[in-house]
This record gives sequence, C-alpha cells and structure tokens, in this order.
Amino acid sequence: MTKEIECLCMECGISNCLLEDDITLEDPSAVDSKIIDSLLVCEQCGGRLMLVGKAEDEPFYRLK
Ligand SMILES: [Zn+2]
Repeated sequence: MTKEIECLCMECGISNCLLEDDITLEDPSAVDSKIIDSLLVCEQCGGRLMLVGKAEDEPFYRLK
C-alpha cells in the first residue's frame, strides 16, 4: 500500500500530493530539513517542494 504525502510548493504555495515511494529528501540526515529532492518539483510552476506531512493523520513523516 502506497501512501500519499502532501508537499507544499515554496514558490507558488500550492500543495502537491506525491506518492511516498517517489519522495526523496534533499538531506535526510538533517532533522529540520523538509526539502524534497530536486527531481520532484511543483507540477504548477516547477518550484521546489517542502514536505508537509502524510495525507493521513500521522504527525511526522519519517524516512525509512
Ligand atoms: Zn509551485
């Protein structure tokens, strides 16, 4: 079962729903960094995305 993750565009501010399996953090070792790897960009403007959380109600997304 693949979960959807909500990611906010840092350029235009819309949220994009991405599949958890597709997401890579730019710097997984940085606890405070929620920047998504540049391979994944906003579908509206091509801006960088910031991880907000799972589309479900878990408080924090944690990289495996
Ligand atoms: Zn955007």
